[in-house]
Amino acid sequence: MASGDDTRVPASTTCAIVGGGPAGLVLGLLLARAGIRVTVLEKHADFLRDFRGDTVHPSTLSLLDDLGLFERFNALQQSHLTRVSVPGADGGQVVLADFGRLPLRHPYIAMVPQWDLLNLLADAAGTEPGFTLLKEHAVTRIVRDGNRVAGVDYDSPELLPDLAAGLTGLLSMDDVKHLDVRVDRLRRWYAPGVLCIGDAAHAMSPVGGVGINLAVQDAVAAARLLAQPLREGRLGRRHGTRYLARVQHRRMIPAAVLQRLQRAIHTLVIMRVLRGEVTTPPPLLGRVLERVPALTAIPAFLIGVGPRPERAPGWARRSA
Ligand SMILES: Cc1cc2nc3c(=O)[nH]c(=O)nc-3n(C[C@H](O)[C@H](O)[C@H](O)COP(=O)(O)OP(=O)(O)OC[C@H]3O[C@@H](n4cnc5c(N)ncnc54)[C@H](O)[C@@H]3O)c2cc1C
Repeated sequence: MASGDDTRVPASTTCAIVGGGPAGLVLGLLLARAGIRVTVLEKHADFLRDFRGDTVHPSTLSLLDDLGLFERFNALQQSHLTRVSVPGADGGQVVLADFGRLPLRHPYIAMVPQWDLLNLLADAAGTEPGFTLLKEHAVTRIVRDGNRVAGVDYDSPELLPDLAAGLTGLLSMDDVKHLDVRVDRLRRWYAPGVLCIGDAAHAMSPVGGVGINLAVQDAVAAARLLAQPLREGRLGRRHGTRYLARVQHRRMIPAAVLQRLQRAIHTLVIMRVLRGEVTTPPPLLGRVLERVPALTAIPAFLIGVGPRPERAPGWARRSA
């Protein structure tokens, strides 16, 4: 169990975060560093969950550096992806994205089990006063009192023995539910006292491995824009939603751009591969990229950093 896990439910908290995924844990860590009392509720007992990707992108690596966590992250067992290449029409390789061309501190994608990253974030957040991680608590209802979130209803750990008993009934893969992959987006990410970020606001598919990075970037923007109003208790007041609207305003375009990219790759590449069609890049594109390799920095930036990158606020930064 990560330090900071607590089985005691605090009587009250300033910010309740539902879900200890990349978005929830980064937001929890940053807000705790802003001196705000935060409670993260995660419905699972640990971070070993459905496979949701093991990629940590250059901008998340820079963030870990800013937060003083890079050395610990770097000590985790990992491999590095420095470029993305595909077979060309002439049988050679076409480099589509070269992260080494980006002027970044860590110009590669680190492949690390997501469980290790989430444990590291939970551990780091657990050292901040005011941070509580409640595992095996699933939020089932948000209770509102006018413009204020009066509380959250969550179920109890007694649910898990039932789940374990159900698993013994599995006889074949036909009994297993397939993981749902979709790409969609909420029209409005907020309501009085409630904000959705990460996949809760814009579900991402595995294509391009960009979902974790986008969720982390949302969390950084939310922490930067909401820390002060939260500290001053302005979110629960009348017109408090305008602070939440700012987060959507800031993060909607990056989400829309990356979802459009995912849909395009889905249609142009994945569906064609599934139909058994040839999917080498057009020969002209291959020749252009070979002659002007600097162009490979554009897809590298879109995948590795994403539109509208976020930096850790000064108050959240620590040296290693
Ligand atoms: C099959 C698949 C593979 C993917 N591969 C990649 C990849 O390689 N690289 C990449 O960058 N992205 C990948 N993605 C997308 C990526 O997983 C998501 O975009 C990213 O995890 C979003 O992070 P998040 O924190 O917003 O949400 P999540 O990672 O979904 O975290 C949400 C958390 O909330 C918890 N939770 C949910 N409901 C409740 C509740 N009611 N109460 C309490 N807790 C709750 C969940 O248990 C979970 O821990 C993949 C997605 C899929 C479906």
